[in-house]
Amino acid sequence: MPLTNIYLITDEHGDSSVLARTLDLLRSVPGPVRFGICDGILKKDRQDTGDEHQRYLGAAREYRDSRKIPAEDLLLVVSGLPVEDYWYNSKLVAGNDGIVHTGNWERYFSFAIDPIYPVAYEIAAWALRSRLFGNTSDATRFAHRNPRGCFMDLCLNDSEVTLKMRTGDICPECQKVVRGKALPINFVNQILHIWSTVGKKLSYLNTADFLNEVSLMEVNFSKKEIYLPVYDAKVEMMPVQMAVYAWFLKCGTPGVALRDLSGDTLIRELLPLYLKLYRGANGDEARNTVLSLADPKTNSLSEIMSKIRKKFLDCLGSEQLAGHYFISKREDEAVHRIHLPEDHIHWVESRGVRVAPPWKG
Ligand SMILES: [Zn+2]
Repeated sequence: MPLTNIYLITDEHGDSSVLARTLDLLRSVPGPVRFGICDGILKKDRQDTGDEHQRYLGAAREYRDSRKIPAEDLLLVVSGLPVEDYWYNSKLVAGNDGIVHTGNWERYFSFAIDPIYPVAYEIAAWALRSRLFGNTSDATRFAHRNPRGCFMDLCLNDSEVTLKMRTGDICPECQKVVRGKALPINFVNQILHIWSTVGKKLSYLNTADFLNEVSLMEVNFSKKEIYLPVYDAKVEMMPVQMAVYAWFLKCGTPGVALRDLSGDTLIRELLPLYLKLYRGANGDEARNTVLSLADPKTNSLSEIMSKIRKKFLDCLGSEQLAGHYFISKREDEAVHRIHLPEDHIHWVESRGVRVAPPWKG
């Protein structure tokens, strides 16, 4: 039976902003399945029988009946109810009624986690499972005890949850089941695309601390060389590149607004630095080189900055890591600058031997 609609509803423990952001994430991926939020807040069954899950699912069934939600559509309670372990974090008990919890996900991840990512993963996983298995018991019988990064991993150990969600995979054995049910390819593709969106974000968060580990930077101005001890990496520059880089270091956090840059400013600020490195005999040539940097027609300052950026990228491999060192303008900023904290910058004359910055020397 094709799956067309998935309805999400929150409960009295839920957070409507988590629900709304989860919906945005799910809707960011095109495909045949449509996602929507139900009106109101689900109140669990007043009957005292059954555990809290059962009482929510009982309430979900009543809600489905009262709103005449078609039997083939999925109705998922996105619940803020705290739960103890992963097994209960996501549960589809029977037919197309299920419950996915938004709380307690942080215990499975070694980094701060926004619950919308695991919750979106689970919603997509249940969309697929609901078309493969009739109920949770059937799904459980098929689930993998040994983790494979597949959506059918049982995740008996907490750490396996992050593996499964970062991998976002359907293992070969499960692919056979999917093919056996002849599910529409565009539907399976939508699910995989949601998992891939979640997986990329989780992988990014997983390594963000690692990639944000900044190195001390030793700047040897006269040798036109930058050394990053944490990576044992060296960047060598041309005289004009070194002069521009040193000038941006001098400008510090206030940075440089390129559109306001004048020839006078560059002659006053940058030329003295460049002359310390310039080996030609013609002072006018050095002056013209610096003046041309302020000329919007030549674009030469941008070219120099982009060459410096490439040197750091070639040396460090990733934009995120290199971005701590090259000159850039971030989205929320109006100026170009070097984002490395000032206390990470050492001016040196040889490894470890500090000197005053060139504008003071
Ligand atoms: Zn599998």
